This record gives sequence, structure tokens and C-alpha cells, in this order.
Amino acid sequence: MQGKIIKGIAGFYDVAAGNTIYRCRAKGIFRNQKVKPLVGDWVEIEILDEKDREGNLTGILPRTNELIRPAVANVDQAIVVFAAKNPKPNYNLLDRFLMTMEKQGIPVIVCFNKKDLVKEKELAQLESIYEQCGHQVIFISAREGNGIDEIRDLIRGKTTVLAGPSGVGKSSLMNQLNPDANMEVGAVSRKIQRGRHTTRHSELIMIEEGTFVLDTPGFSSLFIDRFEEDEVKDYFQEFAPYAEQCRFQGCSHTHEPDCGVKKALEEGRISRIRYENYVNIYQELKEKRKW
Ligand code: GDP
Ligand code: ZN
Repeated sequence: MQGKIIKGIAGFYDVAAGNTIYRCRAKGIFRNQKVKPLVGDWVEIEILDEKDREGNLTGILPRTNELIRPAVANVDQAIVVFAAKNPKPNYNLLDRFLMTMEKQGIPVIVCFNKKDLVKEKELAQLESIYEQCGHQVIFISAREGNGIDEIRDLIRGKTTVLAGPSGVGKSSLMNQLNPDANMEVGAVSRKIQRGRHTTRHSELIMIEEGTFVLDTPGFSSLFIDRFEEDEVKDYFQEFAPYAEQCRFQGCSHTHEPDCGVKKALEEGRISRIRYENYVNIYQELKEKRKW
């Protein structure tokens, strides 16, 4: 029988096969192998006890990918959640997250929650910034249950990493998607959750058969800092057409004269938020390297 590892705890793996979750042990054959079972793995299991839902892991199917942080295999996509307002989006964190996922080859859907708090016009601005750099953008209100069906459609049959800083409404969204999850919402519970998150391992939540969401603990711990400053521009793909007009090959678009990207910025063709984040990340990596 085949299933998917949704959780690993102290030598046991919880495997979702169909609508049932079996607690499985990894047999000796895994001990000498390089590949260790990972949350997200599709696996072969043999059932030992149908009533008590116990089984053995007997094999791991080939992975399509493997994320480092969080450690999870076979991720189809990520949804990154920010609040459109309250708290206002941290664009710098958002851009760093987009880079990190892109580097790992994971498509990211940008989701702004709390759309009930802002005007259509502001939403349209947000939409154009992130569509321009190649992302699907969606607006929801987890509180009002608005846009939840759209998210359901986007995640169906897939394994999705759900990430976002605290306070943006991730628990509210998870509750809407999966009323069974019953996560606590709000300021008081957040503290408790953060405490729990520090000890918690990656865990997939089965929304329905074949649909899994990884509720990611600790947003800022997701970033991988193994970027060279010169590669940062590759992750700001909306710069590319204008970079062709830069006077210097390998222009960093920061201090050079006759820079096509800076020109596009002045003409309003490139988002100032994105450009400033680019410079910020570029400078930071450059400083780090000097040390
Ligand atoms: P988390 O820290 O990301 O899990 O956020 P929570 O789900 O705990 O929500 C944080 C706060 O934002 C709570 O007070 C929620 O009631 C509120 N909230 C969540 N979603 C929405 C929304 O769509 N609109 C508004 N106005 N408030 C929301
Ligand atoms: Zn340039």
C-alpha cells in the first residue's frame, strides 16, 4: 500500500494512506541507506494491524524535490500569507521568502489576508507588483470566509507549504480550510503557539485525501542565506528586460551609470518597493562576504 509521511516522531512515522493514518516503524533496511524517510515522502507500507493502524515502512518512492528548511519532500508549491493591513506587509521579508523558494524551485502564490480592511485600489497595487514578478496573487479574508474556496481549489491534490509571519491570520485560514484543526486564534494563543512551534517538527495536515498543507513554524527561520550578492538580481525577474539596456555587463543596478533598471525605476516601470528590497539584500550579502 502507498501513502505519504505526514509526521515523524522518535522513530515512528505517521503515514496517510487513503483516508487512514497508520503509525509506522522504519524497518532495518533503512538503517544502512543514505535516504532517510522525510515528511512528505511517498512511501510503501505494509499493514501489521488494521484495527490499531500499525504498519511498517518498506520503501520510499523517488522524490520530486526536497526542501531544506523546513525539511520536507515533494513540495508542489508554497502559499505565503501576509496581511494587507494590520500588520502591514513586511515586503522585505516577502521578497526574501520569494527568493528562497525560487532558489529551491518551488512556485509561490502570494496571499494577502484581511482584505476586508483595505480598499480595492490598494489591493490592485499589491496585485500588480507581485504579478509583475511572476506570482499568482490572491486576496482573502479568513475572518469573513472570503476567498477560501479559491485557496481550496489551488491546494487540491497537492502538497503546499503555508508560510507567513505571525499575526497575519494563518491560524484563521487553517481553521477555515480544516475545521478539525481547531487552532487557537488571536493574541493570547499566539504566545502559546510560538512556544509550541519551537519544539514542533514539520507536520503535514491532511485537508482531504491527497491534499496536504505544511503549516510552517517560525517564518524567519525559513531563509537560506547561501546567496551570492551577484545572483540576487536573477530572482528579481521583472528587472531582466531593462537590464539589457545597462551600459555595463554584470551591472549590479546599484551605483553604475547608465543603468537600465534604475531608468525603469524612475519611469515607474519597476516597483520601488521591490527595487529597494533588492538593494537592501544585495548590500547585506556584500557586507557579509567582506567579513
Ligand atoms: P496567525 O498568528 O497568523 O496565526 O494569526 P491569527 O489567525 O491568530 O489572527 C491574528 C489576528 O488577526 C486575530 O485577531 C484574528 O481575528 C485577526 N484576523 C485573521 N484573519 C482576519 C481577516 O481576514 N480580517 C481581519 N480583519 N482580521 C483577521
Ligand atoms: Zn543596471
